[in-house]
Amino acid sequence: MIFNTKLMYVNCSKAGLNQYFCFMVKLKQLLFGLFILSSIVSKGQQDNSPKLVVGIVVDQMCYEYLYRFSHKFSDHGFKVMMKDGANCRNMNFNYVPTYTGPGHASIYTGTTPSNHGIVANDWFDRKLGRSINCVEDSSYSTVGSASNAGSCSPINLKSNTITDQLKLTYPNAKVISMSIKNRGAILPGGHLSDGSFWYDYSSGNFITSTYYMQELPTWVKQFNAQKYSEKYMSGTWNTLYDINTYTESGVDNSKYEHLLPGKETPTFPYNLKAMTAIEGVTAQGILPYTPYGNTILTDLAISSILAEGLGQDNQTDMLCISYSTPDIVGHAFGPYSKEIEDIYLRLDLEVEKLISYLKKSVGKKDFVIFLTADHAVVPVPQNLTDQGLPGGYVFMDTNMVQLKAAMTEKYGQALVLEQDNLNIYLNHDSISILGLDLNEVVDFVAEYAIQWAGVKRVFTGGQLYNANVDDPWLNKVRNGYHHSESGDVVLILEPGYLPKGQDSELARKGTSHGSAYSYDTHVPLLWYGNIIKEMEIFRPMNITDITSTLTHLMYLQQVNAMTGRPIEEVLVD
Ligand code: ZN
Ligand code: ZN
Ligand code: ZN
Repeated sequence: MIFNTKLMYVNCSKAGLNQYFCFMVKLKQLLFGLFILSSIVSKGQQDNSPKLVVGIVVDQMCYEYLYRFSHKFSDHGFKVMMKDGANCRNMNFNYVPTYTGPGHASIYTGTTPSNHGIVANDWFDRKLGRSINCVEDSSYSTVGSASNAGSCSPINLKSNTITDQLKLTYPNAKVISMSIKNRGAILPGGHLSDGSFWYDYSSGNFITSTYYMQELPTWVKQFNAQKYSEKYMSGTWNTLYDINTYTESGVDNSKYEHLLPGKETPTFPYNLKAMTAIEGVTAQGILPYTPYGNTILTDLAISSILAEGLGQDNQTDMLCISYSTPDIVGHAFGPYSKEIEDIYLRLDLEVEKLISYLKKSVGKKDFVIFLTADHAVVPVPQNLTDQGLPGGYVFMDTNMVQLKAAMTEKYGQALVLEQDNLNIYLNHDSISILGLDLNEVVDFVAEYAIQWAGVKRVFTGGQLYNANVDDPWLNKVRNGYHHSESGDVVLILEPGYLPKGQDSELARKGTSHGSAYSYDTHVPLLWYGNIIKEMEIFRPMNITDITSTLTHLMYLQQVNAMTGRPIEEVLVD
């Protein structure tokens, strides 16, 4: 278009026009040209690219929740995305471990931990000789409270995110990310986020880190000034509908459920005022265990759209929201609890509120939402075994004591630095000083560990590099294995098993995730708005495909270490 405009210029000398007229014609043509040029520059992308991309991650959301609770959902929340959008019904994670940090990093980088380096939420760092958190960074401090919960940054994220790619290409694009959890906000926002905000359990404020800014934006300060944790925690969490109608979940008073602080039974109603009156239980600390954790995040998201003007110009912006409360409640009560049913019935209404606001403020044609999860969850293993299903616990503290004793007997020293996330880190320095062959020691550990009850496979770093076989378990472990961050030996457990430290009554309550099995890997993926048409897609796809699809929706260069493929079906306008 710029070149066509140039060709339209009148050649004044040939036309024989007077100089003043000629000057005016040229000025008009120049202004027109500048207008075209500036509209192209500010447009950034293409006519049909969205003005706002909203990523919603529901922490620990199993695929089946979309269906198990669907007849109690509103027509305008999850169900409007399922009916009027693209519903990808066979979306899985393609690596282990399926934890929150790796999940968010993989969704937004379009690759696996083997490339982005977020191999767990916390893992053993060989250089520091201690366990680190995936987003800790002591070189930055908290903005928005007196706690140290803001000493964070994306420093450990070794590849770019889709949000980085957007900011790199279009610096005027706005990227805002938020979550109750720090990693749920920081990893989606990438390295160049304009603002990443998470919840501070001590103050009840949304905070950030000096990595991003020196002072909270006014809209976050105003939000914090409302003191929502105190307001919401002065009431009661009861079921949204009569609990007797909650026929999609198990009994409320179940032996598989943990107790919330300040509560003597795992049952409704949760009298939050009474619970927070107990010494040591604070409104700020308990809020994320209640549906109000989702409410405050939705309200903060809506505040950000308004205050930051997201989706208001032709440059695509991104808003990344990660709902952590479903995970926090899911760990405590398990996927078949009344509590988790109520969390999802209420979250559905939060999604409805957000969609309704986006329709008004941006317009359905100009936003696109994707909704997925960072992993799903295993039913409480004790509940599985009580029903005669496969499952159980592997007590790693006990196992490691035995391993260290066996190594001391054989080598004179234990030679183990740490066990974290079923990765065993060996002491390379001591092995070298003793003149031992590292591979021989690694093989000894692997052969020892495969004998532990509940262990399905054991892989060594060397096997993960050299193997070239079509083995789905090996491939998932390899995708989750990073050369500098992972251990020397990696275990995977049998289906239905969770690793625990030691056996106890408490260890057999509640549940977790992290495995390569479908209960942890099979999650929803819904697309809605913009060019997305109504469809159901049944072919298998990987979590890394989301970012690849986004690069096409936004007409961006593919993200640096991306290994996913585009979901072509949803891209056809
Ligand atoms: Zn999670
Ligand atoms: Zn209960
Ligand atoms: Zn979790």
